[in-house]
This record gives sequence, C-alpha cells and structure tokens, in this order.
Amino acid sequence: MVQRSVQEKLAILSDAAKYDASCASSGSTKRDSRDGKGLGSNEGSGICHAYAPDGRCISLLKILMTNFCIYDCAYCMNRVSSNVTRARFSVDEVVKLTIDFYRRNYIEGLFLSSGIIRSPDATMEDMVCIARKLRHEEHFRGYIHLKTIPDAAPELIEEAGLLADRLSINVELPTDAAVKSYAPEKKPEQIRAAMADVRLRKEVARDRTHTGRRAPKFAPAGQSTQMIVGADGSNDAAVLGQSTRLYSSYKLKRVYYSAFSPIPDASSKLPLVSPPLQREHRLYQADWLLRFYGFDLDEITGVTPDGNLDLGIDPKLAWALQHRGLFPMDVNRASREMLLRVPGFGVKTVQRILGTRRHRALRYEDLQRMGASLKKARAFITAVGWTPRNLTDSADLRARFAPPPEQLNLL
Ligand code: SF4
Repeated sequence: MVQRSVQEKLAILSDAAKYDASCASSGSTKRDSRDGKGLGSNEGSGICHAYAPDGRCISLLKILMTNFCIYDCAYCMNRVSSNVTRARFSVDEVVKLTIDFYRRNYIEGLFLSSGIIRSPDATMEDMVCIARKLRHEEHFRGYIHLKTIPDAAPELIEEAGLLADRLSINVELPTDAAVKSYAPEKKPEQIRAAMADVRLRKEVARDRTHTGRRAPKFAPAGQSTQMIVGADGSNDAAVLGQSTRLYSSYKLKRVYYSAFSPIPDASSKLPLVSPPLQREHRLYQADWLLRFYGFDLDEITGVTPDGNLDLGIDPKLAWALQHRGLFPMDVNRASREMLLRVPGFGVKTVQRILGTRRHRALRYEDLQRMGASLKKARAFITAVGWTPRNLTDSADLRARFAPPPEQLNLL
C-alpha cells in the first residue's frame, strides 16, 4: 500500500467526507473545561464549517477514518468498485489531529464517519476507540458526532452513544426497494433496528436508577440521519413521507437531505442525472413546514401532479397560490394556525402578531418590524392601512415570485 503523510491523508479523507451532510450540532448538553479539568468545550464559536439547526455556527473536523470500503453502494464515490485515491488514518492519527486542531482553535469538535474496512464491527471498534481516547485519555470535552454503522454489534453502538454527543445512522435512500437495489449489502430492517435501539437507549438514559442517581447520558444531542435524493426515482412525496415516519418513529433531531451528485466513473450503475441543489433546498423548507407549521404531507406535495415540490418557489408560497380562496387573511383576526400559513410569516413573526394584537390593532407597517417578509406576505393579508385589492387573484402572482427562466448555455 502507498505510504502517505498525515497531510495527504487529511486532504483525501476530508474531501471524501464532504458528501456527508449530517454534521450540524445542536441540543447537546453543556460540557466545558473552564473548571480546569479536561480540554475543550462543546460550546462557543470558532471557524465555521457547519450550521446548527438553531443557527449557531460550529467548526468541526469532518473526516472519514478511511475511504476504503468493502461495500459497493452505487451512489457512493468510496464504494469498492470505484477507482478513487484511497487513504486510511490510524486511531492515534485521528486523535492527534483532533487535539492539535482544537488547540490551534481551528475546530470545536469532530465529525467522524468511515468506509467499512474488514467488517462493520472492526470499523466501529476503531471509531469508538478514537472517541474513547479523546474523552478518557485526552479529556476532550468538545463536540463529537459519530456516524454509526448499523450492522455493528449493539455493545459498540452503546459505547459510541456514551462517548459521543450525537450519533447518526444513515437511512441512505427514500425506499427499502431503492436501498436493496443500490446498496445491496445494506439491510433497511437492520438500519431501522439500529435507529430504534439508539432511541431506546436514549430514553432509558433519561430515567433515574433505583438509588435516584441519573444514568450516564446517551447521545445527548440526539440522533440524525441522511437521505440521498435524486439517486433513485423517488418523488418528493416519497422522500418527505419517509422523513415523517423517521421523525416520529425514532425521535430524530434532523433528517438531512443530500442531493446526489453523479460520479464521473464509468463503473457507476446509476444514470447520470443530477437533481439541482434547489431540490435539496426545497426539501428542507418542506420538512420545516411539516414539523413546525402544521402542514400535512399531502398539502405540501399535492401542489404538483407528480408529487414533487415546485422548484421555482418555496413550498408555502406554492400552497398559498393554490388556495387563494383562503386569502387575504386579516392579521388582526386570523388564528395562529392560519397565520402560520401566510407566505413570509415565520413562527416568531406569528408569535409577535398574536402578542401585540392583544393590546392594539396591527397596522401594515408593524409587520415589517415583526420580521415578516412583506414582499411575499402583502398579497395574502389585510391589516389596518392595507388591503391587497386584486393582487391576491392576479394571474401573474406566481411570476412575481418565481425567478425568470434562464437561457441555457448550449456551448
Ligand atoms: S458503506 Fe456504502 S455509502 Fe458507506 S462508504 Fe461504503 S460504499 Fe460508501
């Protein structure tokens, strides 16, 4: 095997990790070393590499332990049949890199994933060993996110959860049929069992022991998963339907959508068709509406006949344009549920509207100060001093929001 320097390995294995979207941290317990014990903190700011769902920027060393892999997932550039340049870190190299980078204030934590070498257990053992050394030998208290291998032994997943802030297990693709077809060594039922196991262990860790003591924390920042979109033919209704089931079954913190990028490799079995990153963006918006705005899946994905989101405009706006009969909505009288359906109104804006209108009637100018995007909202609301007149029903309303079509570059 070619001997590579740590720097060369870092270049290869950080580049290989860039396809993994599931690395934002949030909701972890506070752990720091200002008491003079240990090193690092999982709070604070630094170089930003990832955004947490709460909007906080965090910097992570995001690497694969190795991009060698014995599996052959058709959508993955690290699959065994791919001809990418390979590298592998030793356990001690990852530990040293993390500590060195932390001391130089480059990072606040580690996101570690890996191709599968030798066996799922052997790979997971090395990953757990890295986390164990960081926590127990280096007294590292920064954030650790471990990508977990679902086929690994439950004892290894348990230890991973006791060491890491967050665990993630990739569901891979939107349907079981797609997983079986494109990731033949992976078993959807095994993936679900591992996710259920993490959920259960997390819930058990919340209970007190019979002596009243708290059990050790298990993955305090929760678990997340990643779904690749565009590698198979699933429409957005199937993608979001799978997410909805995952959120409710496994109490996930987040489902990450990763737009499939075609691999420039003749051995790939997949068609070279890539969905635009815009699809990924619209899926995140729709996911948010389903979780925090009270929309049902059918409402979001029913706006187009093929069950896909409208890529040109955001999903809430697409829904509102299809239900113009419900608008314009009076911001001084509408219920919270209906206000959340107004394009350009976020959850905080709606809270402010409800709070303020207890004391006085809201004027149009008030809404801007409350964080509303009036460019979107104005066609759908009435307030003191504002009525949209014919704007709500105007034939060109969608065109006012959708970006103009671009001339394709044919050269
Ligand atoms: S298991 Fe599949 S997705 Fe993971 S690194 Fe190997 S080939 Fe890629």
